[in-house]
Amino acid sequence: MYKEAIRPVWAEINLSNLDYNIKSIREKVGADKQIIGVIKADGYGHGSVMCANVLRENGVKTFAIATLQEAITLRDAGAKEEIIMLGLTPDMYADVIAEYDITPVVCDSANAKAISDAAAKIGKTVFGLIAIDTGMGRIGYLADEIETSIEDIKKIAALPNFKIKGMFSHMSTADAADKTYSHQQEDKYNAFYEALTKAGVYVPMRTLANSASIMELPSIYFDAVRPGIILYGCYPSNEVDKKQLSIKPVMSVKANIIHLKDVPENFSVGYGRKYISEKPARIATIALGYADGYPRPYSAQAKVIVNGVVCPIAGNICMDQCMIDVSNVPNVKVGDEVIVMGSDGVNTILADDIAEATGTINYEICCAFGQRLPKVYV
Ligand code: PLP
Repeated sequence: MYKEAIRPVWAEINLSNLDYNIKSIREKVGADKQIIGVIKADGYGHGSVMCANVLRENGVKTFAIATLQEAITLRDAGAKEEIIMLGLTPDMYADVIAEYDITPVVCDSANAKAISDAAAKIGKTVFGLIAIDTGMGRIGYLADEIETSIEDIKKIAALPNFKIKGMFSHMSTADAADKTYSHQQEDKYNAFYEALTKAGVYVPMRTLANSASIMELPSIYFDAVRPGIILYGCYPSNEVDKKQLSIKPVMSVKANIIHLKDVPENFSVGYGRKYISEKPARIATIALGYADGYPRPYSAQAKVIVNGVVCPIAGNICMDQCMIDVSNVPNVKVGDEVIVMGSDGVNTILADDIAEATGTINYEICCAFGQRLPKVYV
């Protein structure tokens, strides 16, 4: 039980494992590649400021986030490094980009001009990335419309207080076993870069690779790679060859039993009476619910580890609590530790297991657990 958590449930963030993972990624990509640490969504739920500290100690000089508030949080915590805002910034927030020295991503000269104007007002120059849509279909100049795109990019290159720092695109299916589409994206990226260079637009930095690409597509490392999920010790999918990279899970979720009762046969537990005891049973309650990121659709398949014994969740997961059938745990008592996600050295429950059971991806499980649970750094 951690007094500072002020709750008998917490996300345990193992910074040594994060340190292990970033070293492993460095070894994989080589010393000459820039690593952009993707710590958006509060470091995928792990705490962006603490994660930034570990990455910084490992020589990471650029972070990537997805909202201006995430950038401000890092700056307020003292981060001096380059911070790339991966999403687009509407003109009305251009002043925030300039004030906090954020590296924006743009795909429209009018937007870049708004940012340049905001920077000029406070005597600064902003360095930004040009986004190219090579096949993700999200943001960026269409890679297939090279000529019109380059005309607009030339206007950006001529802005007085906005300098083009690099060219950015994002992979759509790098985590799939079939790399056909990934190679098409790679080809489009290369063609666009060549055309830009030919048109006299200088692009000092190219970045395309996400976690799956770091594992399996070395030809797109270019100047800078952008690892996200592998930093946190989760693989981007089950289709990647996990032998390509050794990583360790950074987040565990743990709780202490706050209530314990022996119930008779035919006793119902939770909303909707989804659990009814077939024989006398022992039911434990923990203060973890779906508002903490423990998905309600997981209820029927959910397992936790109590004193070395794998136990099922009894009934539906509630908003702030859930119940466990601990009938098979000898000498169980209030205060005993429950591993909801993590390992006791013998049994393991991964974010992947929860994701698979609920039809989502490990990314979402980590992000969701990160939102309300207190974090304990170990
Ligand atoms: N780059 C961009 C633009 C992203 O949106 C993300 C994550 O979604 C990443 C890099 C990192 O991706 P991954 O976590 O798969 O490494």
